[in-house]
Amino acid sequence: MIATGSLACSACGQCCNSPPALSLREWFAQRALFIGSIAIERVPRRRVGERLGADGATHALNEDDVADHDALADTLFARAGAPDAGWLSITLQGYDYPSVARCPALAPDGRCTLHGGLHDELNDALNDALNDATKPARCAAVPLDPLVPDRWQPLVLAARRASTQAPHWRGADCIRDGLETGATPLIEAGRVIDTQALERDRNALVFERALWRDAVAASLLASASARASLAALRPGARLTIAPVPALLAVARLSETCRAACIDVIDRQRALIDTTVAAALARRRLDERVITQELRGFALAHARAREELASVQPSSQPSSTPFAHDAERWLNLR
Ligand code: SF4
Ligand code: SF4
Repeated sequence: MIATGSLACSACGQCCNSPPALSLREWFAQRALFIGSIAIERVPRRRVGERLGADGATHALNEDDVADHDALADTLFARAGAPDAGWLSITLQGYDYPSVARCPALAPDGRCTLHGGLHDELNDALNDALNDATKPARCAAVPLDPLVPDRWQPLVLAARRASTQAPHWRGADCIRDGLETGATPLIEAGRVIDTQALERDRNALVFERALWRDAVAASLLASASARASLAALRPGARLTIAPVPALLAVARLSETCRAACIDVIDRQRALIDTTVAAALARRRLDERVITQELRGFALAHARAREELASVQPSSQPSSTPFAHDAERWLNLR
């Protein structure tokens, strides 16, 4: 546990070793940069007395810990069916070959290019409309974790510190006990000092439950084979699927959303093509499985495009207040 801690980030870039989790809004804005996928994980129920460990220490959950966890999980995630089954975390996740081991937004100097807007040609209107930062909300919250209660963040910080001290991290050593001069203060006496970054990510997750995440959860739970796959999924493991169900859910909202989803699909197919071509040039046997998965994504996108292109604009529903909000959220108006 780190009851009081701060972050002394030297922009070494080591924590940007894979594409991040994104909101659908962020993915739409960066559709030419990030290959999207949907990552599905089980969020188990927690019990009083259960012990969580981090950095050699353990903490036994008390009633307040469990109550905060349940309240946050009910806010962020759909229930996974039976009351005891916990929740389903359904996330838009950037996808790439693990062997690349870097986020495509990472600059050679270890900084995030999305900070400076190097990929901002799609983001200008969003920034103007919503006065938003371009760095993904999940990244902005690092090293804290928006998916667990604020009272658990001392554990999160301790676990992150342990990982950054692993030998292969080449001495990042950026999470410090105490409030160091020049470091970003994170937690004081067990309380998160500034919850803004955590709340920004959580608010996006909540809006996108209504936009697509709950629809994907419901369709998974309606399928016997998907339910069996989910039941076999151990906590911490994840299922990865193409992001097509999210696009289909959004495309149904309005003609503007449908056209935007077709554009996203076209950008994704082009990005997958160039990503796979680069992998084939590397000729690595261990990348074959990912190549197959990406080809599956491309096929799913092609089928979805056909389906969406066959919809008559006149058959789309007339705009509703929610469709208006969704278009604004996705920077489509
Ligand atoms: S590993 Fe630590 S020092 Fe390096 S970029 Fe990430 S937060 Fe900053
Ligand atoms: S988007 Fe930026 S902060 Fe997030 S993982 Fe990529 S480079 Fe790092």
